[in-house]
Amino acid sequence: MDHHRDARSRCVVVLVSLESGHVMSVWAENNRERFRELNNKYMRSEKGRAVNQRANVKYRAKNITKTRAHTAVRDAVRRGDISAPTRCDECSEEKRLHAHHDNYLYPLDIRWLCSPCHQEWHDNNEALS
Ligand SMILES: [Zn+2]
Repeated sequence: MDHHRDARSRCVVVLVSLESGHVMSVWAENNRERFRELNNKYMRSEKGRAVNQRANVKYRAKNITKTRAHTAVRDAVRRGDISAPTRCDECSEEKRLHAHHDNYLYPLDIRWLCSPCHQEWHDNNEALS
């Protein structure tokens, strides 16, 4: 758990959602349904869409190597150059898999990891880029 100051500089307690890795306020964590409802409504509004779009542009600019790597994988999968296996490269479980990069500078040098293994790798490692 971590303390941050929000825009109006109240101190708010935030925590990182274990499943999604998203930062959520404690209120949102305790009111998931209501939060989702409000968040969906906001994301559909003009303001929400604009804010979201700006955040995406900013994210991509800041993570250009990462974004390029993800795009390269997506395109290669679409072309049929690479395809996802059915089992995780780490734990061999049959699950939905993520294309994982140890190093974003090698966009097609990927391993296929299930969500828990992927999360674990990023908890213990820093991908190179
Ligand atoms: Zn796994």
